[in-house]
Formats: sequence, C-alpha cells, structure tokens
Amino acid sequence: MNIYIIGGGAAGIMAAIYAKEKDNRVIVLEKNEKIGKKIYITGKGRCNITNIADYEDYFSNIVSNKNFLRGALKQFPPEKMIKLLNDNGLSTKVERGGRVFPQSDKSNDVIKTFEKILKQKGVEIRYNQSVMAFSVRNSRIQKIITQDNEYYPDKVILATGGKSYKATGSDGKGYELAKEWGHTIIPLKPSLVSILSDFCLDESGNRVALKDMPSLQGLSLKNVQINVIDANDKVLFKEFGEALFTHNGLSGPVILTLSSKINRMDLRQLRLSIDLKPALDNKTLDRRLIRDFEHNSNKIFQNCLKDLLPTKLIPFIIKLSQIPPETVVHSVTKEQRKALGWLLKNLRFEISDLDDINNAVVTAGGVCVKEIDPKTMKSKLIENLYFAGEIIDVDALTGGYNLQIAFATGCVAGSNAKKEEKK
Ligand SMILES: Cc1cc2nc3c(=O)[nH]c(=O)nc-3n(C[C@H](O)[C@H](O)[C@H](O)COP(=O)(O)OP(=O)(O)OC[C@H]3O[C@@H](n4cnc5c(N)ncnc54)[C@H](O)[C@@H]3O)c2cc1C
Repeated sequence: MNIYIIGGGAAGIMAAIYAKEKDNRVIVLEKNEKIGKKIYITGKGRCNITNIADYEDYFSNIVSNKNFLRGALKQFPPEKMIKLLNDNGLSTKVERGGRVFPQSDKSNDVIKTFEKILKQKGVEIRYNQSVMAFSVRNSRIQKIITQDNEYYPDKVILATGGKSYKATGSDGKGYELAKEWGHTIIPLKPSLVSILSDFCLDESGNRVALKDMPSLQGLSLKNVQINVIDANDKVLFKEFGEALFTHNGLSGPVILTLSSKINRMDLRQLRLSIDLKPALDNKTLDRRLIRDFEHNSNKIFQNCLKDLLPTKLIPFIIKLSQIPPETVVHSVTKEQRKALGWLLKNLRFEISDLDDINNAVVTAGGVCVKEIDPKTMKSKLIENLYFAGEIIDVDALTGGYNLQIAFATGCVAGSNAKKEEKK
C-alpha cells in the first residue's frame, strides 16, 4: 500500500510516523526544502510542544469543534506525545500552566527528533514537491499532481496546515484541493492575532484618534481586565492579564485570546473595554482617587497620576478625561473625579478589524468537521482521503494546544490510513 502524506508539518509528520508499517510505503510530499518550518518558529523558537492540563481544562482551551476532537485527543493525549519524544532522546520540561517545552528550549531539537524517528521508520520524504491538484475517479484520488511529478496513491492524508505565516509553507492550497473535490470550507478567519483599532472613546462616546497618541506604541499593560462588549454594553467575553499597544491597535496575550473568540462575529458591533484597575471596585477606586487628590491637592492634575498609571498612559487618560492638565488638583470637581474613575475602569476602543490572517498564530475555519469521521479522520466524501491538523475547522488558544491537535489528528489519520479497506 502506498500512503501519501501531503505536508511535512506537525500533523503530516505524526501521520507518517503512525502510518508506517514494514510492508507499506509512506511518502511525505513537502513543498519546502525541509520539514517542520512552522514548528521551528513555534513558542518564539522554543516550541511549546503540548500541555498537560487536566482533561477538562484541556477542552476549555479549544475554541472550535472541541467535541469533534475528543476521540482523537483521548486516543493520543499529551502524555503519549511527550513519551514519543522522550523515548527518542528529547528531554522535555513543564512550565507555568502545564506548558511543555524541550529541555533545551530549542524548537530545532524537536524537528531533529522527528527526523530521526521518520528515518528509523523508513518514511520517504520528497522535498520541493508542491501539490497542485488531484485527479479523482469514482470518489477516489487516483493521482496526485505536483509541479514536476505525478504520484499514484492508495491512500492520501492531507495535512497542508492553515493559511498563516505563508513563508513556512502553509499558504492555504490544501483548502482549495479539498474544496475542488466537494468538501465544504468553513470561512477562514485569523485567530490568535492582534486586534486593530483606530479610535478610543470617552465617556460620552466621542472618538479620540489613536494615531494622535504615538507615545502609546509599545506600552505594555499588566494585570488588566479586558472585556469585549456589545452595542448595549453587555460583556460578551472577559480576560485578565497582559496587553500591549501596537502601531495600529492592541496585542499581547489577552488580546490574542479574545481575537479567537470574536473572529466570527460582526466586529463593528463590538468594543474592547479595558479595566485598568480590576482589583478595585468603583467605590474603592473612588476612595483611592480622593486619597491621592488630598495628598497632591496643590499640584497640577497632570502630575498627580504617577502612582496610579504607567507614565506613557497619563497624557492619554488626561485627554480622554477632559480635565485640563493644568488644573490644580483641589479644584477638580467631584463629577470630574467620578468620570476619571469610570474611565480607568472602562477604557473603550472601537474595533476596526483583526490583523491580517498571515500574521495569525492559527487559522480558524477550514474543512467542515461534519464531513470527516472523528474516529479515523477519514473524509466522508472521498474514499481514500484523510485529514490532519490545522486544515480542519479546529483551533485552540495558546499553550501548546494547537500543536497537540495537529499531533493527535495526525496520529489518528496515520493509524487508520494504513488499515486495509474492507471490500
Ligand atoms: C508564530 C507561531 C507560533 C506558534 N507557536 C505555537 C506553540 O508554541 N505551540 C502550539 O501548540 N502551537 C503553536 N503555533 C501553531 C502551530 O504551529 C500550528 O497549529 C501547527 O503547526 C499546525 O500543524 P499542521 O501540520 O497542521 O500545519 P503546518 O505546521 O503549517 O504544516 C503544513 C505543511 O504542509 C506543507 N504544504 C502546504 N501546502 C502544500 C502543498 N500544496 N504541497 C506540499 N506541501 C504543502 C507546508 O509547507 C508545511 O510544511 C504557532 C504558530 C505560529 C504561526
């Protein structure tokens, strides 16, 4: 049996490892000159391989189609992935939140370990083979066509990844191949990506252009709560942690997480609302402002916020508060103080868009899970086709979950593709 795997990324590599038996041929067709180019850049070059959070915790970090993934992740849980790597000489370590990394902190060591396993198993890899088309007859792929070759498969595993970081090879071609032969592609959206914003809003809803506040760029906000609110101020999602102002909006861990949750919504209806003082309720914050104002009663307003806010944020907050910066603190009115307190807990931003899909950590959307058997990853439309990895309509938050999804679906696809078909 000839099993062809299209794409030598995290999912394709695992599919190849688990598809290979003594008496079959497993051939990976990879368009790049090497395998695992995206693995190389994961975890800022350290590769957050997987996550050993407990089972339910794990599923709370999967954003799309978690039920579809239950079987695959049960069959191939993070512990098996860690064991596979450890048994083949790669030491791993566990960090904050159950995140697993190679002991060396080098993603390249993960790739080298994969290369070693693939070699030991006898998997063949054809580099510089960009799959352009399939020829399908009687619901079976008869021929795989690359720019300079044709291959005749018994089984095919499509593991071409998503549509982000195209330079690593994942340019979205796999979606076209699946669509051409009848699969539904759920619209692709950037996930784990910056949120773009042009305007902040004051209490009355007046816009303040962020381009007029260049000093904000690069400012990191720690321990803030960011809410996504709708047009009626209803909180739809909230996250606590760190965010960062960029040249065109907001980024950082909290923002990336929120991007995954809002990417299929009408963004024009949504606002980001930052609570700069989530540990203080409105009353406690007001008491704090009264104390600070008493302490600085003869100073001018712009000089009395240093203990409360990062320096780079002060001119911005002053502008939004509409309290003239030269006002002597003892003459700030109660209403002005209350409005300032509101602002510190409701710093609102319009959302103009999400950043480009090419800059997204993962692609949401993809091959519709209803057309894939979750027990085998086999297509329900093409008899000898299987799917693995990010090409499927699944995505998760940061923390090693996305790679684990690729590994687990790859393992399941490979293990099942090697089975003889019942005649
Ligand atoms: C910057 C960044 C950091 C990340 N960090 C982490 C992390 O630390 N932990 C984590 O869990 N996840 C992380 N991710 C997400 C994770 O890398 C992906 O979800 C995962 O690599 C998906 O695996 P895949 O095999 O489906 O796709 P890919 O790894 O993208 O592999 C697809 C392969 O298919 C090949 N290919 C594509 N089209 C064709 C074609 N037509 N013919 C032949 N070959 C083709 C590509 O060249 C590529 O080698 C990160 C992603 C990015 C962009």
